[in-house]
Amino acid sequence: MDISVVVPLYNEAESLPELCAWIERVMTENKFTYEVIFVNDGSTDDSWEVIRKLSAANPAVKGVAFRRNYGKSPALNTGFARAQGDVVITMDADLQDSPDEIPALYKMIMEDGYDLVSGYKQKRYDPLSKTIPTKLFNATARRVSGIKNLHDFNCGLKAYRLKVVKHIEVYGDMHRYIPYLAKLAGFNRIGEKVVHHQARKYGKTKFGLDRFVHGYLDLMTLWFTGKFGGKPMHFFGLWGSLMFILGFIAVAVVGFTKLYNMYNGNPYTLVTNSPYFYLALTLMLLGSQLFLAGFVGELVARNSPRRNDYEIDEELRIN
Ligand code: UDP
Ligand code: MG
Repeated sequence: MDISVVVPLYNEAESLPELCAWIERVMTENKFTYEVIFVNDGSTDDSWEVIRKLSAANPAVKGVAFRRNYGKSPALNTGFARAQGDVVITMDADLQDSPDEIPALYKMIMEDGYDLVSGYKQKRYDPLSKTIPTKLFNATARRVSGIKNLHDFNCGLKAYRLKVVKHIEVYGDMHRYIPYLAKLAGFNRIGEKVVHHQARKYGKTKFGLDRFVHGYLDLMTLWFTGKFGGKPMHFFGLWGSLMFILGFIAVAVVGFTKLYNMYNGNPYTLVTNSPYFYLALTLMLLGSQLFLAGFVGELVARNSPRRNDYEIDEELRIN
C-alpha cells in the first residue's frame, strides 16, 4: 500500500464527508493505493455514525473509536499503530489542511529521501491571538530541539516514512513535538513543505490558550528526558556536587577566619553573624538534595524496562 492517511478527530461530523471525498479524489487521480484511518477521539456528536457510512461506501476508509476523549496525541499514536502504507500522512479533520498536498509530500518521502516532512502554514488563516504566540513557540522549539529548518512544529499536516511512526511514541500532548521525537529516535532527515491553509469551515477549535503553557512545559520535559533521561546523575550529580562544594568552601572560610582571629588575639564574632554562613548552609542543603534526587533518578532509570531499548536501524547476518 502506498499511503495511509491518519485523521484524529473530535466532534468534526460536518467536515468528515467533504474531507473524505476530497482525499478519495486525490488518491484516485494520482493512482495511489491507500487507506484512510479515522481515529474518533471520543466524539460526542455523530462523527462515528458518519465514519460508519463513509466506510460502508469505501473499504479503504477505516475507523477506530475511543470510548472517551483522550486527546490528539493518543489518537495519532493509535492511528500510527494501525497504519500500513509506505508513507503515512497525518491531517486534521477540520478541512484546514488540504489533501491536494498529498502527492508532493509522498514524493518528498519516497524520492527525496526524507524521513519526515512537516507542513508549514506560511500564510495562516487563524486569529492573531494564535499566530503571534505560535511564532515565539516555534522559535523556542527550534532552539531547544536543534531542528533549525522547521517553522511550524505543530502543523497537523505531516508525512512520515512508515518506520518512523512505528518507532516513535506520541503520548500526553507531545503531538506538538513529533519532529523532535523523531529526531530523538535517530531520524535526521526532517524536511518542510509550504502548504495551503484555510480557515476552519465547521465547528470550533479544540485547543485554548493553555496550549502554549502546556507546550512549553512539554518542551522542557522532552529536552530533559532526551538529554538526561537515562543518566539523571549527570545532571543532578553535577549541580548538586558543585553547590555542595561551594557551600563547603564558604563554611570553611568563615570558620577558619574566626579561628585565625581567635588565636591571634584579633576581635572576632559568632560565625552565625556572617551572611556567608547562611549562604553556605543553603548551598550545602540544596546541593545534597540535588545529589539525592540524582541518585533516586538513577535507581528509577535502572529499573526502566526500556533502559536497553535501542533504535536499531539494520543488522547483517544476524539470525
Ligand atoms: N482533536 C482530537 N482530539 C482532541 C482535540 C482535537 O482528535 O482532544 C483533533 C481535532 O478534531 C482536529 C485536530 O485534532 O482534527 C486539530 O484540532 P483543532 O483544529 O481544534 O486545532 P487547531 O487547528 O485549532 O490548532
Ligand atoms: Mg484546526
